[in-house]
Amino acid sequence: MAAAPDCLFCRIVAGDLPAEVVHTTDRAVAFRDINAQAPTHVLVVPRAHYANAAELAHADPESAAELVRVAAEVATTEGHDDYRLVFNTGEGVGQTVFHAHLHLLAGRSMTWPPG
Ligand code: C5P
Repeated sequence: MAAAPDCLFCRIVAGDLPAEVVHTTDRAVAFRDINAQAPTHVLVVPRAHYANAAELAHADPESAAELVRVAAEVATTEGHDDYRLVFNTGEGVGQTVFHAHLHLLAGRSMTWPPG
């Protein structure tokens, strides 16, 4: 899907907004979360604009899988065998940016269930 003009993450993907990019592929871009909740907190986003993970998975399952592959690779690169992957979907559970993104969190102990 084409970039959405007012989308923050489309602008990061395009290089129009600064971000600390840690990994890129043809389909995905990974960059550090500006409000890190763990020693490693990286967001992996598809280059194409989809509002959430389910829309992405329906339209382009290969890119949805790519987000997980990239997250695993970044975790390994940063020395983490244990990590958490999160897709927030909907305002009610805390989604604030409506461009699909996978949170990679690692480097500290975590509780379950998440709050
Ligand atoms: O899942 P949710 O939509 O809440 O996640 C959005 C994430 O994007 C937040 O963790 C926020 O800190 C991050 N963010 C960012 N860079 C921006 C704007 C938001 O890393 N410029």
